[in-house]
Amino acid sequence: MTYQNYSLKQLQAIDAAHHLHPFTDHKELRGIGSRMITRADGPFIYDSEGKEILDGMAGLWCVNIGYGRSELADAAHAQMKELPYYNNFFKCSTPTPTLLAKKIAELAPKNINQVFFGSSGSEANDTAVRLVRHYWALEGKPQKNRIISRQMAYHGSTIAGTSLGGMEGMHGQLGGAVPNIVHVMMPYAYELGLPGESDHDFGLRAAKAVEDAILEAGAENVAAFIGEPIQGAGGVKIPPASYWPEIQRICRKYDVLLMLDEVITGYGRTGEWFAAQSMGIEADTITTAKALTSGYQPLSALLVGDRIASTLVEKGGEFYHGYTYSGHPVACAVALKNLEIIEREGMVERVKNDTGPYFAEKLQARIAPHGLVGEVRTFGFLAAIEIVKDKKTRERFMEPGSAAVTIRDHAIANGMMLRATGDTMIMSPPLIWTRDTIDMACDRLLMALDLAEADLRRKP
Ligand SMILES: *Cc1c(COP(=O)(O)O)cnc(C)c1O
Repeated sequence: MTYQNYSLKQLQAIDAAHHLHPFTDHKELRGIGSRMITRADGPFIYDSEGKEILDGMAGLWCVNIGYGRSELADAAHAQMKELPYYNNFFKCSTPTPTLLAKKIAELAPKNINQVFFGSSGSEANDTAVRLVRHYWALEGKPQKNRIISRQMAYHGSTIAGTSLGGMEGMHGQLGGAVPNIVHVMMPYAYELGLPGESDHDFGLRAAKAVEDAILEAGAENVAAFIGEPIQGAGGVKIPPASYWPEIQRICRKYDVLLMLDEVITGYGRTGEWFAAQSMGIEADTITTAKALTSGYQPLSALLVGDRIASTLVEKGGEFYHGYTYSGHPVACAVALKNLEIIEREGMVERVKNDTGPYFAEKLQARIAPHGLVGEVRTFGFLAAIEIVKDKKTRERFMEPGSAAVTIRDHAIANGMMLRATGDTMIMSPPLIWTRDTIDMACDRLLMALDLAEADLRRKP
């Protein structure tokens, strides 16, 4: 690679001069300079100075099989030589998306047998919105087009993704959201649960907010409810077990479609192939992306349930929607190999039966007792650590988010990558983590918590 001819300072200067980054305060970044990640292997990433960092985020929730898998590079190479690109428009198809769609249908919940491809989670959610509204129009109910989502939801960063999402800051910069999307409370018991309310009851109350929104709009005007089975970017919010079955019951009662955004949870992260299976629910659409290729190629798949698919086929008429790279042959070849590896190495079962429970046990035993930690939540290979000033009262540090950022910076300096979102630390490790890797992560995280505590308590 040619970057080796550049010093870190030079690369940072070029980066600052020419490269606008996603979700970044560019004024702040220019004062600091980017950390250059230059290579990665297995569970580790390495920066330009050779520093090893254990990647507790699997890139950005995606590198489920870890780094350095040459089989994926070989699959891409072979496909590029044979057929680098052809479109799937105008009654054409190519073999890799065809076979990938079949594979995904086999792994998915049994009511799902059709797949629509895109290149990102945001695109797939855009497709999902278009599709559910098209469905109701085909069913003769074009006014049934309202979509219910949740506060702090993350559904991507395009106009439709942002509109579906419930991030206030993002909405503030939108200049007009996609119409007919409303947001209700999230199932976040740690902050929204009432004193004395059980988790079970809280879950039912949070689900009732969806029913209330349906009744307020009139069920005849509500197309669908959309939710991440576990809210990811919003802070790994794991709903009580009572929540999702109740949501399913409510959706069925009012004939409202259920859309799941499994861009993070899809392909093994929860200990099942899909979180729909972990939660025991059936969805009409499931959005997937990230781990579909373990991030080795950009690719998304919208899984479409039989109810919607059969209406498309029976009623006919063109669905005016698609992307140049829908079903890109190289990305699909990489996805097929990625799924093969996840299956061959038994990663989903391991997360469910061995490393997932061990991850939960160790975080509860070693991290939860720390003085800065209000709560540890885990589900499969997802974790949230609530940062508080006072464990008992749950009082937070003064400046929202600052404590978590302090911890994150110490963690990275100590060779541990994880994310801070608000006052919550979040983790989403690759599924290849072993018990030893989990122990290493706890060691590094504890050290960061201790160093951060010294900093934070010293401040007035
Ligand atoms: C990342 C993410 C998206 C958006 O995916 P992109 O590929 O970044 O467009 C959508 N939904 C969820 C739940 C996500 O985590």
